[in-house]
Amino acid sequence: MKGKILVSACLAGQNCRYDGGNNLDLCIAKMVEEGRAIPVCPEEMGGLPTPRLPCEIKGGDGRDVIAGDAAVWNNRGKNVTGQFVAGAKEILKIARQEGVKAAILKERSPSCGVLNIYDGTFRGVKIPGQGVLAALLAQEGIKIYSEENYSELLR
Ligand code: SF4
Repeated sequence: MKGKILVSACLAGQNCRYDGGNNLDLCIAKMVEEGRAIPVCPEEMGGLPTPRLPCEIKGGDGRDVIAGDAAVWNNRGKNVTGQFVAGAKEILKIARQEGVKAAILKERSPSCGVLNIYDGTFRGVKIPGQGVLAALLAQEGIKIYSEENYSELLR
């Protein structure tokens, strides 16, 4: 793949996950080290702290959030849609500036999920759908992969 890609910062080993941990993938961390990938965390970029309360989308997926038809909530009932959308839009600006054509994002996250997210009940129930950042990048024509299927990108 020519050109830079975006990657979820937690996959590159940054401790930006809601619980203060990361989801290190050594191959993705190496891409960042070599300057081939740009690590981004939309939730931190939108102004949320780390650690933070778990959040899920209720009423749809990231595409619906962008359309204004669904919202993101934390597990104490606070609406955090504004921060999620603001962070995703900032990252879209970076993607445009850098001419990014592809991204590898953390599966099942309400921001980064590519094929699946959680259903908004905080009971660990997965549903098909994209996170807010994943949806915004896909709408821009950027190819989105997760840590579970990005080998396709390397072929
Ligand atoms: Fe990782 Fe994305 Fe969650 Fe940030 S928002 S911790 S990059 S999955």
